[in-house]
Amino acid sequence: MTFTLIFIAALLLSVGMRHWLAMRQIRHVALHRASVPNEFASRVSLADHQKAADYTIAKLRLGLLENAFGAFVLIGFTLLGGLEWLNQTLLSLVGPGITQQILLLVSLAFISGILDLPFTWKKQFGIEAAFGFNRMTPRLFWLDTFKGIALAAALGLPLLWLVLELMATSGTYWWLWTWVVWTLFNALLLWLFPTVIAPLFNKFKALEDGPLKTQIEQLLKRCDFASQGLFVMDGSKRSAHGNAYFTGIGKAKRIVFFDTLIEKLEPLEVEAVLAHELGHFKRQHIRKRLLVSFALSFVMLAILGWISSQPWFYFGLGVTPDLNGYNGGLALALFMLVAPVFGFFFTPLGSLASRKHEYEADHFAAQKSSASALISALVKLYQDNASTLTPDPIYTAFYSSHPPAPLRIAHLQRFA
Ligand SMILES: [Zn+2]
Repeated sequence: MTFTLIFIAALLLSVGMRHWLAMRQIRHVALHRASVPNEFASRVSLADHQKAADYTIAKLRLGLLENAFGAFVLIGFTLLGGLEWLNQTLLSLVGPGITQQILLLVSLAFISGILDLPFTWKKQFGIEAAFGFNRMTPRLFWLDTFKGIALAAALGLPLLWLVLELMATSGTYWWLWTWVVWTLFNALLLWLFPTVIAPLFNKFKALEDGPLKTQIEQLLKRCDFASQGLFVMDGSKRSAHGNAYFTGIGKAKRIVFFDTLIEKLEPLEVEAVLAHELGHFKRQHIRKRLLVSFALSFVMLAILGWISSQPWFYFGLGVTPDLNGYNGGLALALFMLVAPVFGFFFTPLGSLASRKHEYEADHFAAQKSSASALISALVKLYQDNASTLTPDPIYTAFYSSHPPAPLRIAHLQRFA
């Protein structure tokens, strides 16, 4: 089977590349562990620098394990017959039809979730805890997990049912209708997220009156940005890492600060961080990302529309389709398992675009706020998040959504 060989080749290549990139990063960070890079020497202590190196390496080591394990699981589901067994078992239990297809996808998601759990647990209560970042209790962990499952069921099951119904009844162009549904569903999520979804997991309070609020309001006026309010979120409930973001569409835009960010940064630094985020909006990055994601889902669904009617797609990946019957759920399951293997090779394109946007947003922040305040905020955040200041260039080029610290600071210094 040609497709089986193509799949195995792509899987080996992607797993090998992930491993190679992670090893490069580990070696590079370890090599520069002994001393703080010159440009940061006055701001970052050796102890913090070494903590960042150890933290980065600990996460990468777990990633190596996860990478290898993930490949075995994928082979297990496909070529070794895991999905085939699941499909046949459910067929004999409930018979063919939409219910069976929904059960197939739900059990696949459930099994994947369970296999993933030890890694998620180890990240939170092993690594994050060892480096002093975890603020989550096991109770909260399970509460989050069950809320997540309930939310996925409430939103995902009706969507899944609708998509499977379209696949079964709307002919060759089902994928086009599915794309319309998917796009509307995502717009709905954007609209629901700030007011309905996020409050399920965190508390949001209006930012209190005071010097910070005054300063932020002036910045918003300078940037001509209308928002539906400034909020502080209890991010400290789960993690010591700080952040700021804004969410929502149209007039419902909200600005959200993690409480951890406001604790750590001076008002001028918070302003500079927010100015950077506003830069993403004003330079149309958010709109572009949204359009790209709609275009990508169009292409993916067109591919799925084609291969789901090709017998080699199923047989090549170790499953037996019912050629005269209903394969919608089986096609979706296989596609979700296998598409990331091929998608991996496009990662650098997304990373490159993202790094370009980061530079543009930094430039915007330098114009509307202060480059030197953003520099000092970033250095504090690098320290607090134990981000490495010495990443491997090839690893960065492949994965990093943000420019490496030294280049980013050097770029900002041109405007300071
Ligand atoms: Zn950014």
